Amino acid sequence: MVGAGPAGLAAALAAGDLGCEVTLIDAGHGPGGQMYHPGMLFPGRGRAHRPAEHLPPGLARIRQLRQVRHLAATSVGRAVRDQDGVVTLWVGGTEGGAETTVEVRAVVLATGAAELVWPFPGWDLPGVTTAGAAQALLKSQRVTVGRRVLVAGSGPVLLPVAASLAEAGVRVVAVLEATPAPPAGGLAAYPGQRPETGGYAAALARHGVPVRTGYAVVACQGTERVERAVIAQLNQDWRPRPGSRRPETVDAVHVSFGFSPALELPRALGCAEVQPASRPVPAVACDADLATSVPGVFAAGAVTGAGGADVAELQGYLAGTSTARYLSRLPPDAYTERTRPLRARLENARRLAADLDEVCSLRPGWLEWPDSGTIICRCEQTRWSEIGAAVEGGARDVRAVQAVTRCGLGDCRACVCGPALQYALSAAAGMVPGSARPASAGQGGRHPLRWTA
Ligand SMILES: Cc1cc2nc3c(=O)[nH]c(=O)nc-3n(C[C@H](O)[C@H](O)[C@H](O)COP(=O)(O)OP(=O)(O)OC[C@H]3O[C@@H](n4cnc5c(N)ncnc54)[C@H](O)[C@@H]3O)c2cc1C
Repeated sequence: MVGAGPAGLAAALAAGDLGCEVTLIDAGHGPGGQMYHPGMLFPGRGRAHRPAEHLPPGLARIRQLRQVRHLAATSVGRAVRDQDGVVTLWVGGTEGGAETTVEVRAVVLATGAAELVWPFPGWDLPGVTTAGAAQALLKSQRVTVGRRVLVAGSGPVLLPVAASLAEAGVRVVAVLEATPAPPAGGLAAYPGQRPETGGYAAALARHGVPVRTGYAVVACQGTERVERAVIAQLNQDWRPRPGSRRPETVDAVHVSFGFSPALELPRALGCAEVQPASRPVPAVACDADLATSVPGVFAAGAVTGAGGADVAELQGYLAGTSTARYLSRLPPDAYTERTRPLRARLENARRLAADLDEVCSLRPGWLEWPDSGTIICRCEQTRWSEIGAAVEGGARDVRAVQAVTRCGLGDCRACVCGPALQYALSAAAGMVPGSARPASAGQGGRHPLRWTA
């Protein structure tokens, strides 16, 4: 198993319970992934939990299972599957040490997702980070980026991040959710978060942090680091309302617009991808048993585009069980019997996640936030105006734009700017981001991109 978040842990448990010898590899220092990060602060529940207390009881059982060997602080850099079906993983310590290999007959990829952010003027200033980065720094190092901050973007991740920061003594000026309709119903339905939502809301209320819907940080300004954020009120498709921009003094801004599946290892193994119609980012394609297009390679959790920790965990149990069947540890009848209740719960959790995705769907008005000089690709320093020039010169797909601008060809391999580039190209062509379908009226139709300031 690669990844010890809820998906990888559940997969390891399911496969281990069925007698498979499991190697669980994760770059983190303890099991839990993003959701159950060791040392996480839970508003209203005190601070600094020990890792063992941190996992829900079902997943904490991982520590007792003898069949599971956990390689923590270990990263998988490369993966190859040979003609005999053996998958070789190249692993190395995240704090140095020689690279070595692990050979397995089957693998579950549960590598999670990276955060999705849209570019705006000043997003590359020191002090502007993703919401997840602010959370991870706080959880792992007890470090805060700023003392007076805004948490902005869209999706349920904003609330726990803001609550944790407020609990840690940071002055959170506001949480800005871009979607104008109050997302309360959707947030309440957020899988895996429902029991916590009340806690986050209570923590924010206790610290006097307002949650404003239909607002966004559309620019950051400062010399050495961010000193001011420009806040705008948005219309339904996230276009800034004329005359609504106002400055707010801050020393940090934390943004997040959802997640983008971590596809490096699936790509290395040649797994097919699927492009959700509503998102500008692809995910690993899986069948109903969570098998990818490559025999012996399974996937679970956020890497499949799934939303929420509950879905990730349920997928993990299914993928681990499928792996055991693949390794002939489970006859077909027993597999069907064992997975039936799991599939029903998964279907239910998926429906809730889809509802939330709908509430917090990405909207094209963000394309009006960058100005011509905004850096879109930080690695290659490509500016927004260069993308515009490439499109006006006839480029209509990512490769064509990259050939002219080098956008996304730097060290992070488009991990940060790729979704923005894809979205911008789709919008310019009047397509639903990430699909070949024309945008409907509800999705904004052809979007007149404002390439120049
Ligand atoms: C700040 C924050 C708050 C969140 N809050 C909530 C919430 O309240 N409720 C909710 O439902 N969801 C929340 N989420 C989303 C949550 O992360 C996912 O729902 C869930 O964690 C997905 O589980 P996963 O196992 O698929 O991936 P993850 O939990 O992301 O785990 C993936 C693991 O894979 C490891 N990994 C990746 N690549 C490699 C590699 N090459 N080698 C070794 N290890 C690797 C990573 O270290 C990581 O531990 C939050 C996310 C963030 C960032």
